Amino acid sequence: MNILLKTLAQICRTHKIQEKLLLCNTLSTGHQLLESLSKENVPWLNLRPVTPLELATEQAKPILLTKNITIPTEGQLLFLLEEILQQMRANSQLQYFAELHNQNSLTRVLYPTIKELRLTGITASQLNESSFVDPCKGQEIITVLTLWEEKLSSLNWADAATIYNIALQTKTNSSPYYLIPEDLDLSPLELTFVKHLTAHKQIILPQDPVLNHAHSHTFTTPQPTPQSPLSWLFDPQNSPQTPELTILRAYGQTNEIRQVLRHLQQENIPLDNAVVCHSSTKYIPLILTITASQNIPVTFAEGIPLGFTRPGRFTLQLIRWIEERYTSLILHQLMTSGDMRLTSATTQARLLRQANIGWERSRYIPCTESLHQSILQKATAATNEGNEPYAQYLHQQAEHVSTLKQTLTQIFSHIPDATDGNVSFPELCRGISQTTSTYARISSPTDGLALAAIQDTLTEAAHAFSGTLPLREALRRLHQVLDTLHAAASPPKPGHLHITGLNQAVFTHRPVTFMVGLDANFPGSGLQDPVLLDQEREQIHPELSLLTHEPAKRQYRLARYLSSRRGQIILSYPSYDTVEGRHTSPAAILLQAHRLQINNPTADYSALQESLTTPAGFLAPSPDQFTTLEEWWLTTTLKNLSAHNINTVTACYPHIASGLEAHQHRAGTDFTPYDGRVDPDLDRDPRISQTLTLSATQFENLANCPFGYFLRYVLRIQPPEDAQYDPGTWLDPLTRGSLLHDIYCTYLRQTHNLDNPQPPNKQTLLSIAEELINQTKQTLPPPSDMVFEHEREELLRGLEVFWRVEESAQTKPAFFEVPFGFGQQEADEAGLGLSEPVTVTLSDGKEIRIRGRIDRIDYGTAENLYQVWDFKTGSTYGYEEQAVFKQGRQIQHALYAFAAEAILKQSGTDHNAKVEASGYLFPTDKGEGQRFARLQANRHQILELLSQGLDIVATGTFCATDDQNRCTFCDFKIVCRYPQASTQAKEKKEHPDLDAWRGLEDYE
Ligand code: SF4
Repeated sequence: MNILLKTLAQICRTHKIQEKLLLCNTLSTGHQLLESLSKENVPWLNLRPVTPLELATEQAKPILLTKNITIPTEGQLLFLLEEILQQMRANSQLQYFAELHNQNSLTRVLYPTIKELRLTGITASQLNESSFVDPCKGQEIITVLTLWEEKLSSLNWADAATIYNIALQTKTNSSPYYLIPEDLDLSPLELTFVKHLTAHKQIILPQDPVLNHAHSHTFTTPQPTPQSPLSWLFDPQNSPQTPELTILRAYGQTNEIRQVLRHLQQENIPLDNAVVCHSSTKYIPLILTITASQNIPVTFAEGIPLGFTRPGRFTLQLIRWIEERYTSLILHQLMTSGDMRLTSATTQARLLRQANIGWERSRYIPCTESLHQSILQKATAATNEGNEPYAQYLHQQAEHVSTLKQTLTQIFSHIPDATDGNVSFPELCRGISQTTSTYARISSPTDGLALAAIQDTLTEAAHAFSGTLPLREALRRLHQVLDTLHAAASPPKPGHLHITGLNQAVFTHRPVTFMVGLDANFPGSGLQDPVLLDQEREQIHPELSLLTHEPAKRQYRLARYLSSRRGQIILSYPSYDTVEGRHTSPAAILLQAHRLQINNPTADYSALQESLTTPAGFLAPSPDQFTTLEEWWLTTTLKNLSAHNINTVTACYPHIASGLEAHQHRAGTDFTPYDGRVDPDLDRDPRISQTLTLSATQFENLANCPFGYFLRYVLRIQPPEDAQYDPGTWLDPLTRGSLLHDIYCTYLRQTHNLDNPQPPNKQTLLSIAEELINQTKQTLPPPSDMVFEHEREELLRGLEVFWRVEESAQTKPAFFEVPFGFGQQEADEAGLGLSEPVTVTLSDGKEIRIRGRIDRIDYGTAENLYQVWDFKTGSTYGYEEQAVFKQGRQIQHALYAFAAEAILKQSGTDHNAKVEASGYLFPTDKGEGQRFARLQANRHQILELLSQGLDIVATGTFCATDDQNRCTFCDFKIVCRYPQASTQAKEKKEHPDLDAWRGLEDYE
C-alpha cells in the first residue's frame, strides 16, 4: 500500500463507525480509492467520497430553496454565455473578440476563463481595464462578466461560484470527519469554503513525498517518511535503494501502445492488473483503435471522443448533412458507412444515388417518387417484351425505393424544416436525438453509452435555449456542445485494461503501471492562456494561476504519481515521430529516472540512450510474441527464415499472387489479357450482331482509347454521377451544355417554323433563355441567389455570340434536334426523325446500325443540298481545319451526314437529299463563334475507318492509348492504372495483333 492508502486504512481503524467524508475532485476517483482499500483487505464503514461542490450545495440548500434559486446545467451556462456574446455583438460591444466570434469558437474559449475568474472570487466590479495589455480586451471581458452576473441574478440561477458564496454565509454545524488528500486540486473559492466547513474536523491525508522538489501543497501536514525509491527522483544521490522500473522506447506512438500490449501478453499479466497512464489525450483514439481491432476490453477514465463511436459519427454526419443543404452524397456516405442502421443499406444507398437528388430537402421525396415511377414503367416495358425475370427484379427495386421513401419521410418528420431560414432550437435538438436513436447502429456497450450521452446532451441543450434561431446559428450551437463531448468515461472495471490521464491517475491502484508518451514534449511548454496572459493574471489577482507554472506542476504531478506506485513500473516514449519523419528525444524526467536507476546523478542523455533496448517497431520481438495476425505475418515474413521468400506470400494470398502475375505481364512487351485482350467475340461486333447499334460518341471513345471503351461498353463500368454541393457553383459543364442546347434548339424551332416562320428576334431568344433557366432552377436548385444571378447573367451574355453567329450565317436553318433510333414518340415530337436506327453499309459490304440526334440541318447552297451542324458549348481545343477524322476521334460529322440523308429521304422530305457539308459550330464565348466544316464529297475513307476500328472490337484487342493527352478528361483514370497503362502501351503498340489499332493512325 502507498502512504495515502495506509493513512486511510489507519483512519478507518481508528474511527471505525464515525461518519467520514472523503473529499475528491470527482466521485469516480474517490470510489477508486475506496476500491483499492478493499482490495488491500482493509474494512471500512461509514466512509463516502464527496466533491466540494456537493458539500457546498448541501450547505447552501436551505437558502437555495427559500429563495427559489435554480442550479443550471453546464449546457445552460454555455448557452447563457452564447447569448451574452450575441447581445454584445448586436450592440457593437465586440471588437477585440469579434474575429473569434465569427469563427464560432469564442464561447468555448471564454467559458473556462469566466468560470476561473468566478471561482477565484473575482467580480466584474473588481476588474480594471488597465490590468489588460489591451484595454479593449479588458473592457469586453468586464462587460461579459457584468452581464453574466446580471443575467444569473435576473434568472435566479446559481453557478458554482454563487453556490460557494451562499454556502460560505451559512453556519457549519456538521459532525463528520473530513478526510482531505493534501494535494486536492481546489480553486481559491473552493479552498476557502473547504477550510470554512472542515476547520474543526479535518484530517489531512499525506501522500508519498517527492523530495528535493519545491512544491507547496494545498493543505499542510507533517511530511511522512518516504517509502518508495521513486520519492528520490529529484534527489538520486541520496536514494537508499534503486527502483524497479523499466524504460522503453518505440518507433512512434502506435508501436508504443503495441509494446504495452506485447508486454502484457508476454508476462501473462491480466488486463485488470494494469493501468496505462498517458501524457496526452492524443493517445486516447490511438489506444481505442488498436484495442478495438484486437477486441481488448478497455475502460477510459476520460471517456472517448464522440467521433470515435458509431452514434457519435452518425450524429456529426447528420448535422453536416443539414449544414450542407442536405447534399445527397453525404446521406449516401452515411448509409454506406455502417454507422446507420438500415435494412438493405447498400441497395437503398444506390437507389438514393439513382434518384438524382443533388441537394435540397424539398427534392428528396419528389425525386424518390419519380424514380419509383420510372422503375415501374421499365418493369411494365420488360413485361411487355416478355422479359419476366427483369420485370421481377425491377419490381423488387421499386419496393426498395418505397422503403427508402419511408426512411426519408421518417427522418424529415423528426428534423424540423427551416423554410424561412429559422428553426426551433429545441425541436432541432429533439429531431437529431430521435433520428440518432432510431438509425444509429449500436454495436458495443461503448456505443450504447455514447448514444445515451448524445441524448442527454441534446435534451439539456433543448432546455438551455427554447427559442428560434437561424439554422446556421442553431447548428453552430449544436457543434459547440457535441464537438468536445467525450462519452463512456469509466472507472477501472474487472477484466478491463484501464487508461487514464495524469490528472485522474493517482487514485487508481493496480500492480502494473505503464506511463506512455514521455518524449521531449513532456511536460509541455507552458504556453500562454488564449484569453488571459500571465502578465494580466498577475495584475488581476494574486491567486489566479500562472500558465508558466504549468510544466513544473505537471512534472511534479508525474513524480508524485510515480512515487505512489507500488509494483511494476514501465516508462516509455516514442523515439520517432512517424508523421514528421524525425527522431524525438526522451523527456527530462526519464533521464532522472535513469539516474536513479543506476544511482548516478551525473549520467547524461547519451548514457540513457545507450542503456535502452532497440525501439519497439512494427515487428514482434519474435514470431511467437505477436499480438495480431498482421504482426505475426510481418515478423515471420520479414524477420524470420521466410524473408524474401515470395512463394510463401503467394501461397498464402492467392490475390497477391494474381496481382504479381498481372504486374509481370503488364511490364513486358507482349499484349496479354492483363492489358485489355479478351477472346474474340463476334456478338460484340455491330457488323455481325444486328441487335447492336453504334453511336458516334461510342466509336470516338473506341478510337480515343480501346481500353476505356472496353471498360465502359464491354464491362459496362460507369463512374458514379453524384451532384455535389458546391456553394460557389450551380451548373456543372454537362448540365450547362445541355441547357444551352435546349435554348438554341427552342429558339431556332420557333424562328424557323416551316408553317409559321418568325423573324429573328433577340428579345425572343432572351425570353426563351430566361424561361429555360428558370425551369432548370426548379429541378436543380442553385446554392444561393447570388451564384444563380451570376451564372444566369453569364449564360445570357454568352447568347450574344450565338446571336452574332446566327446573324452572319450563310445558310438557312431547317430542322433541329432530329433523332434517329430512339423510337417513334421522340421522332414525332421532333417533327422530323426516324424511330429506327440508320443503316450504313461499310466498304466491305457489311452493315452497321447507328443512332443519335442531329442538332441542326440547314438548307445547302443549292436545291437538294443540305448542311449538318452540331453545337459545341466548350472550347475549340482539339478541332483543326485540316485534321478531319483525328484517327477516328472525330467522325460524328460523317456519320450524321449519312443519317441526315437517310432521314430526309425515308421521311419523304426530300428523296434526292444530299449532305454537302457537315461540321461543328461553337456559338459560345469559349468557342468564339467558330465553325469547322467537313465537306462530304469523298465518303469511302469514313467507311474504311469504321471497318478498321470495329476490327478492334471483333478481335478483342482493347489496348490502352499510348498518348496521355487523351486521358485528360477520362473517367477511368482511377481504375485503369493511369498513367502506367499508357506508358506501358507504348511498349506494346507494335504487337502484331494490334494492327487494327495502329491502322487508325492513318486517318488524319
Ligand atoms: S486514363 Fe487514359 S489509358 Fe486509361 S482508360 Fe482513360 S484514356 Fe485509356
